[in-house]
Formats: sequence, C-alpha cells, structure tokens
Amino acid sequence: MASSATPMMQQYLGLKAEAGDCLLFYRMGDFFELFFDDAKRAAAVLDIALTTRGEHDGTPVPMCGVPVHSAESYLARLIRAGCRVAIAEQVETPEEAKERAKREGSPVSKALVQRDIVRFVTAGTLTEEALLEPRRANMLAAVCELRGTCGVAACDISTGAMSLEECEPQRLPAILARIGASEVVAPEGWDDMPFDAVARPRGDFASDDGEKRLKAIHGVATLDGFGQFTRAMLAAAGGLVAYLEHAGRGELPLLLPPQLRAGGAHMAMDEATRASLEILASQQGGRTNSLIAAIDRCVTGAGARQLAEDLSAPLAERPTIEARLALVGYILADPLLRGDLRTMLRGLPDIGRALGRLVAGRGSPRDLGQIRDGLGESRRIHDLLRAKADRPALLEALLPDLSGHAELTDLLSHALVPSPPTERQSGGYIAEGYDAALDELREVSGNARRAIAAMEARYREETATPSLKIRHNGVLGYFIEVPSRHADKLMEADSGFTHRQTMANAVRFNSLTLHEEASRIAEAGGRALAAEEAHFEELVERVAARREAIAATAAALARLDVAAGQAERASDGEWCRPAIADEPVLAIEAGLHPVVEAALATSRERFVANDCSLSESDRLWLVGGPNMGGKSTFLRQNALIVLMAQAGGFVPARSATIGLVDQMFSRVGAADNLARGRSTFMVEMVETAAILSQATERSFVILDEVGRGTSTYDGLALAWAVAEAIHETNRSRCLFATHYHEMARLAETCEALSLHHVRAKEWKGDLVLLHELAEGAADRSYGLAVAKLAGVPPPVVKRARSVLDKLEKGRAETGGLAAGLGELPLFAAALQAEEKEGDTLREKLEGIDVDALSPREALDLLYELKREI
Ligand code: ATP
Repeated sequence: MASSATPMMQQYLGLKAEAGDCLLFYRMGDFFELFFDDAKRAAAVLDIALTTRGEHDGTPVPMCGVPVHSAESYLARLIRAGCRVAIAEQVETPEEAKERAKREGSPVSKALVQRDIVRFVTAGTLTEEALLEPRRANMLAAVCELRGTCGVAACDISTGAMSLEECEPQRLPAILARIGASEVVAPEGWDDMPFDAVARPRGDFASDDGEKRLKAIHGVATLDGFGQFTRAMLAAAGGLVAYLEHAGRGELPLLLPPQLRAGGAHMAMDEATRASLEILASQQGGRTNSLIAAIDRCVTGAGARQLAEDLSAPLAERPTIEARLALVGYILADPLLRGDLRTMLRGLPDIGRALGRLVAGRGSPRDLGQIRDGLGESRRIHDLLRAKADRPALLEALLPDLSGHAELTDLLSHALVPSPPTERQSGGYIAEGYDAALDELREVSGNARRAIAAMEARYREETATPSLKIRHNGVLGYFIEVPSRHADKLMEADSGFTHRQTMANAVRFNSLTLHEEASRIAEAGGRALAAEEAHFEELVERVAARREAIAATAAALARLDVAAGQAERASDGEWCRPAIADEPVLAIEAGLHPVVEAALATSRERFVANDCSLSESDRLWLVGGPNMGGKSTFLRQNALIVLMAQAGGFVPARSATIGLVDQMFSRVGAADNLARGRSTFMVEMVETAAILSQATERSFVILDEVGRGTSTYDGLALAWAVAEAIHETNRSRCLFATHYHEMARLAETCEALSLHHVRAKEWKGDLVLLHELAEGAADRSYGLAVAKLAGVPPPVVKRARSVLDKLEKGRAETGGLAAGLGELPLFAAALQAEEKEGDTLREKLEGIDVDALSPREALDLLYELKREI
C-alpha cells in the first residue's frame, strides 16, 4: 500500500484486496462507489459516467457510482455481464465512528466510518426475487477431481435443492451442460479445465470436510439416510458449501438434503447434442424457438423450472417414465379437473423461493404471507384431488406432501395481515388480535393520533386560523404550521406555542401538548415495531423448522403443474401417450416437429407429418433429398419425440412406441464453433469420434450431413465409414441425412440399413418441396433448383447448370465418384483383416526370447517385423 494513500484509500485498498477479482461496491452515503479498474469496467457495462476522485500515486483515481436505492438493477446487469461483486457496507454510523475516534484518541474530525464486505453477489448465489428469473432455476455447481473420478455438487440456493453425483472426467462437460450452472467453482490449479470456473482454494474440496459440513447442516450423525455418497461427491460438496459460506460471509443459505444422482437413471446427452436439439435455448440463444418454449404450458414459475429440469435430464428407467405419463394421462382424461387444477395453481405464490429467502435471512413479511397462501392453496388442491377416484400411483404419492402444515398455515393466517409488505421498517404486518400487548401499543398511538387530530381543530379555533395544520416529517417529527401572514399570533410570548422553523411561506411551531402526544406515539410506535420484529423472527423460525416439508410441498405442486401443463399441451395438439418398450425400436406414426410446426402455424402453413420406424433389423435410415426438403426437421423431430417421451410427457404424433434410449447423440455437419478455437471440420470430427466411441445398441443417433466440411472425396469417404461403423459396431438406432447419392450403395452391404428421401418434384421448371418422407434413394439433389428458389441471379444458375452438365458427363465416363467402390471389402472384413494383422505380429513378438538374441539377430528381426507391417 502506498504510504501517500489517504486513510479512506487505505481502507478501500484493504477491502479491494479481500474482494480479489470481484468488483468492489464501496458504500459512501447514498451511493456505492467503484474505483480504479473496477470503475472502468462497471462504467462500460452499465453505460454510466466515469469520473475521477482525488489522486493516488500522483494520478487521478477513476470512479463511478450507483445509488444504493436502485443498486439491485445495476447488480443484475453486472451479474448478467459475467461480473462478481463484493458489497462493502458501512458497519457503523458517522457518530459511532467519532465516538470510536475519541476513545482511541485519534482526531475526531477525520474519523473514518468502518466498512466491511458483507456479501459477495455472484451469478450462482442470488436469492433476490428481482435478480432471478421466475421460470428458470439458478444453479451453482462445484466440481473436483479425486483419483481419476470427478465429483459434482450442484444446488439452486433460491430453493435449496441440492444434488451430488460423480462421473468420469471426459463426461464432465456433458454433466455441466445438463446442470446448466450459471456459476461453477473448482479447485485452483486445475490444468486444462474444460470449462470456465471460479478458482477456490484446494483445501475447500476435502471429502472429510464436506461430509462433516453436510452432517452439521442437516443435524445428522450419518449421511446414509440420504444416500451412499462417494468421496469425490463429498469433496465437491465441501467445495460448494465452503463457497456459499464465503459468498455469504459465514451465513449459509437454505440447503436441503442432497439427492444422489445415480449414473444410469437418466438418458445421457452431451453438450453438442443439447445445443443442436435446442432444448432449453435455441442456437441463437434465448428461449424463443426452443423445445421448451413450444411445449411449456405451466402456470407457475416452479412448474416451468421443473419442466426444464425434466427436459434436461430425461429418464432412462421405465417405471418412473410410466408413472409420469400416467399422471399426465389422468389429468388429460378429465378436462374439468384439469381446468380447476390449473386455475388453482395459477394463483400460487413461489413458496420454494420464498422459503429460500426466509431461511437465508433475506426474507420479508411478504415471503411469510406467500408461504401462508401457498400452503393454504396446496391444502385446497389436496382436497380437490382427494375427491377423485382411481388416482394413479404418482398422484397418490404426491398427496401427503400437499396436505400437511395445517398448524403452520393457521399460525401464519392468524399472525399476518392479508397482504404483508416487503419491508419491515414501518411495521404493520402483524395482524390485529394476534398479540394483545401489540394491540395495546397500537391503541395508544392510535389514541394519540386522534388526540392530535382533535388538537388541530382546537388550535384552528383558538387562533382563528383555519389554515393551521399539524404536520409530520422525518426531521422535525410533529409540528404546527401556519402561513407566514398568520404567524404573529402564535409568536406572542404567552401563546403557548414555541417557534421551531421559518420557511419561505410558512412558520412552524411546537406546543407542550403536541410534544406530549407525539412522544407517546413515538414511544408506543418504537415498542410496537420491536414487538413486530420479534414476532417476525419467531415466525421465520417456525417456517424454517419445517423447511423440508415445505420444500416437499413446493416440489409436489411443481410436479402437478408440469403434468397439468403437459396434459394441456397434449390436448391442444392431439398428441399421444408414447408406449415405452424395452426392445431397441422406434416406431412413430405421423410425427411432428413441435417448434417447426408452431412456426409454420403462425404463417398458416401446414406441417407434413412423417413416420419413422426403426428396429433391430432396420436400424439405420439414410435420408436423402433436396436442400430445404425437411431432412434436418425429420431427424430432429424424432430425437425430440424420444426426449419428450422419456421426460415423461405426451408426444406430437398419432402413435409412438419408444424403446428406451440410454444415450442420445445429435450432430450437424460443419457447425461452427469458433469460440472454442477449433476449425469447423475439426469440431465435426471430434464430435463424431465421441459418438463412435460411446454409442451403444440402446442409443439413438442423428447425424445431419456429417462429412460436409471437407472436400467431396474426403467427406464421402468419412460419411461412408461412419455410417458403416454405426451400423456394424455401435449398432445404435440412427437417422443419417446426407447429400451423397453414392452412399445409397451402402444398402447393398449393410442389411439393417435402408434408404429414404424427402420428396420433391419439379413443376414447370420450378421446384416444389413436398416435405414428405418416402422409401428409396433420392433421385437427384435439386441443389440448383433450390438456388433458383433462393433468388440466386438467373445467369449464375444458368452458368452453374452448364458446369454441372460437364461434371456429370465426366463422372459418367470415368464411372462416377463412387466408381472405385466396387472392390471395397466389407466393413467387418476390413476390421477383421486389421485385427488379424495385429495378431500375427503379436504372436511373433510373444515367441521371441529377447535374452537369447545376439545384437545382430535382434536388428535383423526388427527389419523383418517392419517389413511385415
Ligand atoms: P438442408 O439440406 O438445406 O439442410 P433440409 O432438408 O435439412 O435442408 P430442413 O432444414 O429440415 O431441410 O427444412 C427446411 C424448411 O422446410 C423448414 O424450415 C420448414 O419451414 C420446412 N419444412 C421442413 N419439414 C417440413 C414438414 N414436415 N412440413 C412442412 N414444412 C417443413
């Protein structure tokens, strides 16, 4: 620290050192000020004026500031821009600072108010309603590596939901993509970390510590009741809790018992698949045109968050899927019930998040009111459902969570006014009749207020000044005010009034009686406030004591909302309940793409429904046809139908039978990923490699023009080999869209591969796209016709036609692009040959007794082996 620094600057620099790479909001009166680089960064993000204040080391100090009363909206923008913020508050008043200076014997005039960082505001640690999106969970994740496995702890502190899992290191990006964390923390010094994370001390990620902290939080002697957690999971949990504690300066938010996420319970999808299927966000970013936007009919924020989680992590086990489907079916079959239920749900407050704020110590009387209203409504929903016959198992399981809390609901109803305020400062949220002592205090101030009103009338009469008023403000308290021209009477020595203040047009007075009544109000008011504060704290404690039960109610209500919303969506579009099968089949009759269909509907166009029918003996479909013909749409709609079904929802098709999918892969050729610094084609191949190494007989793969990003020959060769490998080795169900006609010849050698195309015809020289899937290979590409459709100038199209004619003539003469493929050995034979080659070498090597060889013999042998390969 520079010795020239003023005491304030020294204090600032000390706090800034503590804040590290977070922006420091330094409280000065009614503003949070930022200095140095923080100021530059914040001013740029917030688009506010950058000024300077004083000098440091001989140069002016850059500064900007935001008013405290509107700090939340600025915080929101900074967080969205990827910043983290440390809030340094004044922790004593200027008077207290002076007192302290006096005690310490330092100059009182220069007393500096003590400031401390009271909180770190980061994307993953928000609880404020204004900073959160109602329909999106806000996840924080902590990851670490322990002896070759990765532990992942994730939580949404706005509701306290927490989960633990572990995975192989290469699966970590896929897991993080599923969680969709807005902030990730990881131990510092992690080499080649495949994601962005906030680095935290390694010591925070200790499994013993993690276990101890979880036990302490939940007051249990063992975690066995929650699940069998591994060391890696507990180490990650330790890192997560330590970070939350750091962000809250020792205060922990609401954390519910951790849920163990088992490996095989969910369908696996990697990051690229998620992005390409546009599940929660479109490729352009944002919800518009995403799957969730097309199917979300939830009427509560919590329901929408649950639906997002369901779609991010579709199930892979039949009973849980069937249970969700049965609930959707039950609500779909009873439109009256559906209507009532959705009406009741619509009015529900977000009790999960209200609970989160209350437990984190950032709650308000309004949050208590929300818990009261939410629990009350939940009881009514419970009664509605209880009256129904033949309830499906999942509904039966949810009922107990909806019923409870009568005692707490009664207490809150009794204690709180109908709509409690968000602020506590002025009281008034505890209902009349709850506390006799409080009522009495209110009566005292009420009487005094009435006495003051009566006093005003009396004074007007006595002074013959009808314009006399008794008013109140924060500085003077109660006072008597008359226009200047009437002031003389009150100024007289024996008037009983004492002068307080002269304004431009009015003069203000006090009187003994007014003073007495005012003190009575102030005293009773102060005591009433304190009484309300005490009640507030006790009520929060009562709510916190039932946190798990309330969270369970919130979860049950969200699940009901999802099911009712799915039923509503299914009834809108005449969707069907998918049949779940154990065999690797996929039979979809008249399937639709929910997003494309919705987009077409707005322009009154009709979506052409298409069938898909994959089975063990016909598991790979090559789909050809013109550009814009609907290949991509067809591929994705089938992937989405599988995903929606395994998330437990109805699907846009006339009928659907879905053999459980363990992993889903979706790849689009040559998708740009410049942000990662890899070339387009490289990305495509890295992603393709992942499919070939991971997909199984139970997986579903869609490949859209893979091999497009390189020269025609290389591309065709790769596409060919990839299709063959999926057919022979992975044996997954697969839809493969391609422009290479030559690949049709694969049907000759791959017995479970069949050819399909999207239909088009040329009519009077124009291309008509039918978007209809048909059997057999596509007859041609129609690329030039599409170019014409797109408005490429006629001379260019004409010129392209003559180039094409030349090319095709040449191809016919040489036997075509695939002319050489006649002698190609079968894929399996090629693999075997390769293996065999390896085997003879191995045999030879194993037969050698190295110790018995002379140097000369060893060298000869090496030459011989080399010759053989
Ligand atoms: P390309 O080869 O150029 O990538 P493609 O064959 O993959 O094209 P899509 O991107 O799937 O074609 O579809 C192009 C457009 O055609 C869509 O945006 C949509 O407007 C329309 N379309 C696709 N499928 C259908 C369908 N089944 N019914 C009606 N319109 C459709």
